[in-house]
Amino acid sequence: MKIYQYLLIFIFFSGCSSDFDSDVEVFDQQTFKWSLVTTWPKNYPGLGMAPERLADLVNEMSNGRLQITVYGAGELVPAMGVFDAVSSGSVEMGHSGAYYWKGKIPAAQFFAGVPFGLTAKEMNAWLHRGGGLEIWRELYEPFNIYPIPCGNTGTQMFGWFNKEINSVADLKGLKMRIPGVGGEVFKRAGGNPVNIPGGELFTAMQTGTIDAVEWVGPFNDLAFGFQQVAKYYYYPGWHEPGSTLELLINNDAWNSLPPDLQAIVEVAAKAVNQDLLDEYTASNNRALKELVETHGAVLKKLPDDVIEEFRQISKEIINESLSDPTVKLVHQSFQDFLSEVSNYHAIAEDAFVEARSNSD
Ligand code: CA
Repeated sequence: MKIYQYLLIFIFFSGCSSDFDSDVEVFDQQTFKWSLVTTWPKNYPGLGMAPERLADLVNEMSNGRLQITVYGAGELVPAMGVFDAVSSGSVEMGHSGAYYWKGKIPAAQFFAGVPFGLTAKEMNAWLHRGGGLEIWRELYEPFNIYPIPCGNTGTQMFGWFNKEINSVADLKGLKMRIPGVGGEVFKRAGGNPVNIPGGELFTAMQTGTIDAVEWVGPFNDLAFGFQQVAKYYYYPGWHEPGSTLELLINNDAWNSLPPDLQAIVEVAAKAVNQDLLDEYTASNNRALKELVETHGAVLKKLPDDVIEEFRQISKEIINESLSDPTVKLVHQSFQDFLSEVSNYHAIAEDAFVEARSNSD
């Protein structure tokens, strides 16, 4: 090969490489500025901090290439307008809970949580390793939404009451804020369920618009001040054993992101999903102690026969909903997973916790 041929080859490759570099530069410099709407009050402890942390993480990991501005409930859209806003593309992202959309998608509630369903740990395993997330994405696809699990509250409390619940008869006519399938179960047990966004609950209790309220658990309930407007704090949260929160992304916006930013969003959401659960686990008992010892909340367990009534009705309602083929499909996957993991949990976590609590 003559020297000029080497020279040509050199010029050719240095040309390619310089073109390639400039492409990468242009690609890297593209900045996305997105809006995220939530169902929670702005900066609300727990739930409301999940989207804030997601925004911070994504901003940091992407070196400012994806900037997300978080809007609390009512700032851009109402608490219950989050799904529609993301679906239409008027905003790129939302943070909420899938059971709020059961009117649009009856099977959606399985992706937040159903009465007597999966715990937080089991939900995460079903979604990430048990096929749940794939079904969830198929279900939201017609609405032009890409969902990612983004937070879990752990097992919730049944809620706040101003009268004791000693039997199923005590539920009769009781007006309680309790959304989702839990609300349907409560209705069939004789109660009167309503769904009111979190930010309006304290006033609704204070003015007597509602008689009882379930929100999350001690950490969040203390922040809302329910101890000032109700006396009895009932457990267990049979209706929400491990509720998953969702990050909603408009599909067109999602597809406009380069793969590295998509990976950053996925990983940041997964980190926030676990971080929120850790925060609840670390904060709930501290808050419960304060509620009982400082504020005089009376902690009570629901009577066994009331829990059994709720369990039977939950089963009935879920069985009836299986006439919808999508609900049937999601339920099958959910239930198969539940049966499978509970077999092992019975001899692992359950047996261990029993052994631990029996020790001196
Ligand atoms: Ca709740």
